[in-house]
This record gives sequence, structure tokens and C-alpha cells, in this order.
Amino acid sequence: MEPVIVIGAGLAGSEAAWQLAQRGVPVTLREMKPSKMTPAHHTEWFGELVCSNSLRSDQLENAVGLLKEELRRMDSLILSCADAHRVEAGGALAVDRHGFARAVTEKIRAHPLITVEEGEVTQIPESGNVIVASGPLTSDPLAEAIRAFFPESRTLNFYDAAAPLVTFESVDMDSAFFASRYDRGTPDYINCPMTEEEYDAFWAELCAAQEAEVHGFEDKHVFEGCMPVEVMARRGKQTLCYGPLKPRGLNDPKTGKEPFAVVQLRRDNADGTIYNLVGFQTHLKWPEQRRVFSMIPALRNAEFVRYGVMHRNTYLDSPRLLDRYYRVKKEPRVCFAGQITGVEGYVESTASGFLAAVELARRLEGKPPVDFPQETAVGALARYISNESVTDFQPMNVNFGIIPPLGYRVKGKRNKNAELSKRALELLDGLDWR
Ligand code: FAD
Repeated sequence: MEPVIVIGAGLAGSEAAWQLAQRGVPVTLREMKPSKMTPAHHTEWFGELVCSNSLRSDQLENAVGLLKEELRRMDSLILSCADAHRVEAGGALAVDRHGFARAVTEKIRAHPLITVEEGEVTQIPESGNVIVASGPLTSDPLAEAIRAFFPESRTLNFYDAAAPLVTFESVDMDSAFFASRYDRGTPDYINCPMTEEEYDAFWAELCAAQEAEVHGFEDKHVFEGCMPVEVMARRGKQTLCYGPLKPRGLNDPKTGKEPFAVVQLRRDNADGTIYNLVGFQTHLKWPEQRRVFSMIPALRNAEFVRYGVMHRNTYLDSPRLLDRYYRVKKEPRVCFAGQITGVEGYVESTASGFLAAVELARRLEGKPPVDFPQETAVGALARYISNESVTDFQPMNVNFGIIPPLGYRVKGKRNKNAELSKRALELLDGLDWR
């Protein structure tokens, strides 16, 4: 059998290659790292997490928790590696980013049906089955080739930012404290409290700080879910206090009270030597990040091991171009998967790689596609990106709004969401997705 060509060994591409190979389909996985890196990738490993080390909530009352559980039940490579390398993060699934990516890489490289070819792909192959999973930071020549492949459409962009990382030993723990919100679960976060005066001074400097120049950012087309902290700050003095600096449920043991504002740090590696600033995606100039973030009392001597950065994030106008199996409508031998299809997030990208690969493997076996119902998170996401009635297409995280309602009343949002997840998992368990 001719190998399927998978372009990009990120979250979607690694998952897709693995699912195909597990179904007996040979794969050539083409990845440009390490010889060429995108602006946000820094390692040779596959499945590299470009920003946060959190795959977000792991609870079934949350749609991304449901999506994870569906992928787990369907033997996802990414989920199994994430579970094996999780670090404590309350109700979220956060991972040791290097351990996780190394595990993905080792699994892929060891698979007898996967051949890895290093080097930048600059064209969509003219024949054979192809899954393009080159991500939101697809290199320029390939992005150009994709544009040429869809002369009838335009590719779309928005801007995404990454948060900085600091070393644990540089955090002033006399000023900070470990706790989880409302003391739920283990006290995994480091909390950096601020008084009202400290917050006011910090907020004023944050609003006025110098931003790095990003070509095209003038249009302020940022993704709301990954908004730079300085952009959020400029929306109003209180905005951060209702967002990432929310003090609710975080009593400072020194005072026994909630501080005025709290910056949370989340463990970024298994050893607990590196922490990220939760919600501090930023595109301030690097010296400005050091200057302004060091105004947070517990971070006054912080050592930054990585500064936040901002990048263009490219995606297709998928409702016009792709069907609900992520196949190109006009040329179904080519599929797209991952963030480039307009699904937003690590787990969502994984899910699209999974679905595209399962469909392709079945097609090669002469089987009909698995019709993942819209009630499942995997199915709902695929329908969202291919829903032609969506005119102003925007990338989207999975959420219960794209899943049909229950049709009966359940009291309380958490209970309702839990019920939606239960329904999805029951449907999935009855499905032959292999
Ligand atoms: P990627 O994981 O980026 O994988 C694409 C792969 O293709 C890369 O390995 C790349 O090297 C390779 N590649 C690119 N071009 C070529 C080429 N021409 N030839 C060969 N290989 C190529 N999501 C979250 O859930 N949480 C976050 O915190 C988060 N932060 C983000 C921060 C930034 C700056 C960006 C850009 C995105 C962020 N995202 C985040 C969104 C998204 O979930 C991730 O980008 C995710 O990695 C997408 O998965 P993917 O498989 O589609 O692409």
C-alpha cells in the first residue's frame, strides 16, 4: 500500500500518523523540525506544546474534559502520553512538556509502519493520500502552496500569544503561597498576592508598556481565549481582577483573607523547577515583560527562562473548503487536520487529527466513514468547522454550545453539562469507531 503522507508532527499530525499506522496503513511523516523551526517551536520533539503546558480541564462538566475522555476511550496517542506525564494542576490535565513530547516522539519513531522524513514541505503532494497538519505557524512556502491550492478562497489569520516561564527558585515564597482555589484538590498553584496599591501601580505600567512590533497586528484581530494580558488590562482597571488575577477562593495564609488580586503560577515540568504565569500571554517587548512583571511582589527577582511571544495564526475558511471528515471537498484525497482547520487548542487539534485518520484508514479499507454524532464532542467539532451556514468563520475551542441540548430540563449548569457528557459517552461506547 502507498504510504499516506502526513505533513507536520505536531499534535494533529502525530495523532493522525499513529491512528493510521495502528490500523495497518503505512505513513510517511514529514516534519521540518529541527532543521527549520517555527517562531514558537523550540525543540526537536514531536507534539511540542508551544505555550501553556495545560490541556485544560479534565472534568466531564467541561466540554474539553469530555473531548479528552472520548479520545482516551478511542486510544489516542496524545492523551495516553499526556496522562503518563501529567503534573499536578487541580482539575486540569497539565503535563511535563518535555517528558510528554519525548514520549510522543519515541512512540512515533518506534512504530514499524511510520517513516519520519525530516525537511520542510513546500508543496501539497500532487498524488496519493495526504493529511496536512502543519499547524497555525505553517511555514511560508507551504502556506503559499495552500493558498494556491484553494484559489477560490482566502486563508484567514488571527494572533495568538504565549506566556512567560520563570524558575521556581527565583519566586519569593515569603510573599507567595501554595493553594488551589477554594481549597479544592491539592494545593498545586503558587499564588502571588497583590494589595490594591500594588495592583494599581502594576496595572498602570502594564497598560503603558511597550509592545513588540508584530506585522499585521494593527488590525487587533486577537483570539479572545488567548488574549494578551496587556490588551485585557487596557479594557478597564477591574478587568484582570475578574479574569486571570481573580482572587476568589484564594485566602492568603498570612492574612486569612482574599488579597486584592492574585497572579497564579502553574507548574510547567514534573520536577517543579519551572512555572508559567497563568493567563499572562503577552507580546510586550522582552525588557518590558521583565520590568512590569517584576512589579508583582513575589516575582521581584524572577528569573525568566522564556519570555512571552506573539504569532500569526493561520487557518482555512473550512466551512467552504472541508467536509465533516476534514477532507477537501473538491479533492478528498487531501485532508487537513489541526489548528489550521479552525479548531482551536491542543486537544481540539488532536481530535481533528484523530478523526481525519480514522476516516482515511477506513476509506482505504473500503469501509464507510464513522458517523460521529453531533452529540459527541469529536463529532460536534467536525461539524462546526464544516458548517456552511457559518459565514464569519472563527477558530473555536470545543464547548457545549455546539452540542445539541438534552431536550429535558436539568437543574444547574454543572449537572446539565455532566448529563451532556454522559449522553455523549454512551453514544460513543455504542459506536464502532475502529
Ligand atoms: P502544531 O502543533 O503547531 O504542529 C505543526 C507541525 O508542523 C510543527 O511541528 C511544525 O514544525 C510543522 N510544520 C510547519 N510547517 C511545515 C512544513 N512546511 N513542512 C514540514 N513541517 C511543517 N492551544 C492551547 O490549547 N493552549 C495554548 O496555550 C496555546 N497557545 C498557543 C500559542 C501560540 C503562540 C500559538 C501559535 C498557538 C497556541 N495554541 C494553544 C493553539 C494550538 O492548539 C496549538 O498551536 C497546537 O499546537 C496546534 O496543533 P497542530 O497539530 O495543528 O499544529
